[in-house]
Amino acid sequence: MTIDIQGISKRFGTYAALQDINLRVGAGELVALLGPSGSGKTTLLRIIAGLETADSGTVLFEGEETLNRHPRDRRVGFVFQHYALFRHMTVFNNVAFGLQVRPRGQRPPKAEIAERVHRLLKLVQLDWLADRYPNQLSGGQRQRVALARALAIEPRVLLLDEPFGALDAKVRKELRRWLRHLHEEMGITSVFVTHDQEEALELADRVVVMSQGRIEQVGTPGTVYRTPSTGFVYEFLGDVNRVECRVESGQVLLEAGGTPLGGAADHAGPAILYVRPHDIELLPPDERLGAATVRLVHEVGPVTRAEVEYAGTLFEVVLPEGGRVPAQGELVRLSIRRGMLFPRERDPGEPPRPFLPFRSGGPTPAVNLGPHTAGMG
Ligand code: ATP
Repeated sequence: MTIDIQGISKRFGTYAALQDINLRVGAGELVALLGPSGSGKTTLLRIIAGLETADSGTVLFEGEETLNRHPRDRRVGFVFQHYALFRHMTVFNNVAFGLQVRPRGQRPPKAEIAERVHRLLKLVQLDWLADRYPNQLSGGQRQRVALARALAIEPRVLLLDEPFGALDAKVRKELRRWLRHLHEEMGITSVFVTHDQEEALELADRVVVMSQGRIEQVGTPGTVYRTPSTGFVYEFLGDVNRVECRVESGQVLLEAGGTPLGGAADHAGPAILYVRPHDIELLPPDERLGAATVRLVHEVGPVTRAEVEYAGTLFEVVLPEGGRVPAQGELVRLSIRRGMLFPRERDPGEPPRPFLPFRSGGPTPAVNLGPHTAGMG
């Protein structure tokens, strides 16, 4: 079942919650809607489900218009952050509910309902808890019951709104793995909402990054993480250094000067360089290239981070595991292995420019950048 979201806009009063959203979800795909609070993820999910109406645009299921269809007829399975199980019903009856309330003609016989419920409870590994009540279950178990209940109606589409949001980190991780596995087994076209980037990157086939009612970027987890198309996506998908700089004669320079950090093609003028902390290497100082100073070193579990100052700019660096840890105050040389440059004044949709690192270990740039060849790294 494909889902085509075409030109969806939605206002609440004067507030534009969604602005011209276009997205195609392929059959059997698992897509994450990822964004900060208020970016419009839940509103979009509710419009797909038919629980909310759009001001304009349309949603097609397998090419077929759905907006005028009752949510029940769309055959959508929905799982919310708060499990919303019926407290007075056993696990079995919770899962059977969607089938038992069907009109007489469409309701499967009792034995078939029982067979289907037990099959689903086995699938979510809770068959042994069929007679319990929701308050006798852990949070993770309740959420799996909610999933079994959503699957019982044999949905064409499964929609999940922060399904693991209320659970602690360890259970979340377990359920994530388990949901991925379940999705591979069942192959139901699924869309889930999350504000947790790790969850989206680990679970989804494709990630839709949203901000202020718009889609910033759509891509596989690898694409959105490695080649973010906007500064927002860079900052939202993990730690990043945001460095104000300028490009002159193909060289990337800090505002305060110093030797160039690397090169850039196709741009001149003010820019912002985005660099992930693990894409910076600390090398022994080289007096020709200008020294950076280690200001702070701190260990968090297995990860050692350093704050390093160069020409008035602080860089956060993640040190490689097992490598030498520099001392506070030590002089080093920064070598940026990978990054992306966004011209400061940029038209919307204009692509960022690749940052061209200098060849590791020496002052010669990886590419010929003109008259200046001295560089860091
Ligand atoms: P969160 O992660 O916090 O749930 P979200 O990305 O899912 O956020 P939405 O719930 O879609 O965001 O809300 C988008 C915007 O629309 C928010 O600013 C919200 O306050 C507003 N909004 C949502 N529903 C309504 C409503 N029924 N009436 C008025 N404003 C609403």
